[in-house]
Amino acid sequence: MSDEAMGVSGAAPERVARVNLDAFRHNVRVLAAHAEPSEIMLAVKADAYGHGMIQLAAAALEAGATWLAVLDIPAALELRAAGFTVPIFAWMHAPNADFDGAVSEEIDIGVSAEWQLERIAQARAKLVERARAAADGAASDSAGDPPDDAEPSGAPTALPALTRVHLKIDTGLHRNGATPEQWPALVRRAMALDEEGALELYAVWSHLADASPADDSDALEKFRAAVAVAESLGARLQRLHLAASSAGIRMPEARFNFVRFGIAAYGVSPFDDETAEELGLRAVMTLAAPVVSVKRVPAGQGVSYGFDYRTEAPTTLALVPLGYADGIPRASNGKGQVWIAGTRYPVAGRVAMDQIVIDVGDAAVNVGDEVIVFGEAPSANAGAGTAGDSVPTAEEWAGWAQTIGDEIVARVGPRVVRQYVTDAPGDDGAAAAAAAAAAAGGESWVIADPEAMHAFGVAFAERLGAGSVLVLTGELGAGKTTFTRGLGEGLGVRGSVTSPTFVLARTHPTLSTGVPLVHVDAYRLGSAAELDDLDIDFANSIVVVEWGSGMIENLVGEHLELVIERPRGARADVVQTDGTDDGDAPVEPRTVTLHHHRGPGRVATGAPRG
Ligand SMILES: *Cc1c(COP(=O)(O)O)cnc(C)c1O
Repeated sequence: MSDEAMGVSGAAPERVARVNLDAFRHNVRVLAAHAEPSEIMLAVKADAYGHGMIQLAAAALEAGATWLAVLDIPAALELRAAGFTVPIFAWMHAPNADFDGAVSEEIDIGVSAEWQLERIAQARAKLVERARAAADGAASDSAGDPPDDAEPSGAPTALPALTRVHLKIDTGLHRNGATPEQWPALVRRAMALDEEGALELYAVWSHLADASPADDSDALEKFRAAVAVAESLGARLQRLHLAASSAGIRMPEARFNFVRFGIAAYGVSPFDDETAEELGLRAVMTLAAPVVSVKRVPAGQGVSYGFDYRTEAPTTLALVPLGYADGIPRASNGKGQVWIAGTRYPVAGRVAMDQIVIDVGDAAVNVGDEVIVFGEAPSANAGAGTAGDSVPTAEEWAGWAQTIGDEIVARVGPRVVRQYVTDAPGDDGAAAAAAAAAAAGGESWVIADPEAMHAFGVAFAERLGAGSVLVLTGELGAGKTTFTRGLGEGLGVRGSVTSPTFVLARTHPTLSTGVPLVHVDAYRLGSAAELDDLDIDFANSIVVVEWGSGMIENLVGEHLELVIERPRGARADVVQTDGTDDGDAPVEPRTVTLHHHRGPGRVATGAPRG
């Protein structure tokens, strides 16, 4: 980490939540590519889930988010005061909420009840009145001017744009939002105030319960019904939004115009059957503190309040100045683990308000050694620490405390200093990985950036012809779609190649050779049988299968596989999925390795399928 990243002169803070902005930007890019063409309204409520609202809001916009979502008007005004000019959505309003401020600052308001509409209209009326008074004052000041000067001498006070109102329908969560019974009246009142020029009826939105796919489909139907009711009343809605992280990833039909991503962008999985890593997301927050005391104790000693824990043998106990006041869940009692220099050790005994004790056995742990509670390893890019135990994740802590990862990151307390870091540059892992691949007999390339990946795809086209099957292997954001887009260009296909996510298979006819490019996303396919069910004409096409490894072997006898990897141990990266990088993040090379597979598939490549 750079000195600047340490943020303090010499002394590291006692308790630190390192927030890796590159990891966060990576996640936002991955999610944006996933949800395309829906826009990203990034949720930075609750101080950006404990990470720091201002810093994370800025990083989200750099990575492609176009809207920000906060809980309430004070947070929205804080963002405006910090200079954010993008649309900001706020949806929870206490009776004394500052609607005047929200209307002046052009905050987008989520509205669940008619009184909120009236408050917005009143705030608008006040503004209009003030502007009129100012104009009148200016006009009377200039009473001595020649009569042909119709304009007041001072410029009229510019009014802010009309407040955009997003009406919320309760689709089953039973928090805020109008009930279906209240809905028509709310819509009518919004329409009337829109007609009067008091506000702009802009959107309809809701929030899902994430209870089950069936419950969410049910909520989606309720949402559609509410939209239909509004439209039948004559509302002309410009935008719809429903999905947060969970549905944004798994329920494409719920994405509409915006996905309000929150937790996934912070590198915590919204699912219990798929980890953040499996989703191609990186941990953003790393909670750490130094060991402040080490002592050797005999067997049979009680540790921490209540002596829930007793040493089994002579052992070393390390004291860490993080407790439940800092967010370590007391409910993790008996299960918690921390990471010190490549090894996990158990938290011994109860979590206290300010401290935990770690049983490190006979390991040589010293005062000053860094203890990581969850997050990412500190020195991955130095090549050290890649062996050994993985660092616990926020989700693991959630499991130990019977809560969700969201709570683990959001509850990190105010004594913990937030430090903003970025990936260390200058990693040469890509070259090393390429050398290793070459040694293993595969052809291998180091691809510098998304542009080079695109060019590589263009050039690779000449290796493929009718009957070719190419599997692309690499995590979300590795550059598979960028590669395929280049490949499409190299083959001269008609139309642009986009991510096939959730389409499963898309056929692009070629302009020249007549051999179509079939682009398949096998990510959501459960088995080779489902891939088989797509009835792809392998013999007469060039087939590119993303995530196809482990399935295609059963269908075709011979195929190529390109493995796209980030440099081993590297921490920097840029998502290349849609090829629309902002350009200011560090672009990191990829290693691409080509493998020829000659499997036992029942359909021989190049032969018609039976
Ligand atoms: C918190 C929240 C989100 C973001 O939810 P995640 O599950 O964290 O992605 C979106 N919309 C609303 C209304 C929320 O309260």
